[in-house]
Amino acid sequence: MFNKEKLIITIAPTGNVPTKELNPSSPLSVDEIVADIKKCQAAGAAVAHIHVRDEDLKPTSDRSLFEQVVARIEEEKIDIIVQLSTGARGGENTVEWRGQMLDLPVDMASLSTGSSNFPTSVNANSPALIKALAEKMQKHNIKPEIEIFDVGMIKGAEFMARKGVIDTPMHFNLVMNVPGSIPGNPRNLMFLKESLPAGSTFTVSGIGKSQVQMTTMAILLGGHVRTGLEDVIEYSPGVPATNEMLVQRVVRLAEELGREVATTTEAREILGLNK
Ligand code: MG
Repeated sequence: MFNKEKLIITIAPTGNVPTKELNPSSPLSVDEIVADIKKCQAAGAAVAHIHVRDEDLKPTSDRSLFEQVVARIEEEKIDIIVQLSTGARGGENTVEWRGQMLDLPVDMASLSTGSSNFPTSVNANSPALIKALAEKMQKHNIKPEIEIFDVGMIKGAEFMARKGVIDTPMHFNLVMNVPGSIPGNPRNLMFLKESLPAGSTFTVSGIGKSQVQMTTMAILLGGHVRTGLEDVIEYSPGVPATNEMLVQRVVRLAEELGREVATTTEAREILGLNK
């Protein structure tokens, strides 16, 4: 029953929350983001989930900043699957704003298929917005990573797949332990996994203190793993993490648990990105 498929490691270096005050290693400028992605790819990451920050270091969906990151990854010949976030906080919840980067030449983008609360804001994704983002991804041949914060959002994704705006098999990111969303514990991860449509692939983001436990379980269950300062600020209590350290820890856990880490080429195969 142990799943021997190779493990895809995603690095989420920046996110919406990290600041230099919270963790001085947070990569916020284009240069810092690309430098961290380069190190993490060398350490074993096959996918980069990218957020960008404006000149005030606030989260933004600004296409030109995403374009700079994509161009720099290309220039530096970093062999990694590029996944752009459509979930920046602070902008307007329209496809024109949230989906402005979806014509860039990338393989993947995140797509949240429901709404929830973050600690100080609403993760607002109306059915009309989800559909518009999904349609734009489909038009530009971008595979969505369906970001779910609770089980109902899996049903939201199935609804969009039935409408034909998300292709199957789908790939999910099970984001666990965000305050106000599904807690990160073994029972809940089993429940989410069992709730996925047959044939889906999934990765797990264990937020904060749930990181090591949910990562370990994801490796054992044949899922994939996301890590990075977007998901976890401290390596252990009182010890600030770096993106590279977090990837290295996932690689060590995978080794101990007997799961090989996928190269970028193998990750493309697993995710069906070679069509
Ligand atoms: Mg994100």
